[in-house]
Amino acid sequence: MRRKKPRPRRVLEKRRRIAIRRIKKLTRLVFSTYKEAIANGDRELVEIAREYGVLLRRIAHIHKVKVPEVVEMFTCPKCKNVVFPGANAEVVGRKIKCLICGNERDHRLNAV
Ligand SMILES: [Zn+2]
Repeated sequence: MRRKKPRPRRVLEKRRRIAIRRIKKLTRLVFSTYKEAIANGDRELVEIAREYGVLLRRIAHIHKVKVPEVVEMFTCPKCKNVVFPGANAEVVGRKIKCLICGNERDHRLNAV
């Protein structure tokens, strides 16, 4: 189905408001799932948490909404996955290593 008329501005604003709400919800979900995964040592939950991160980023991209700062801090700059130390990231000295793509970066987690 193709739309010919451009969407009115208020419709776009409503869609973005919904997107922001979903992103907030997903942000909480990503970190709570990672914490639960680490507490239970569940590899499947780690994968689910990672997928929440992918979904979050996709929603932000489609609706041109900013990704929350906290999520950005835990995002691997190379593979764009939200990684969490203890689940799919490793702290090596002063660096954080992503265990998905193997990329290392200086950690900026001090602000959290
Ligand atoms: Zn990575």
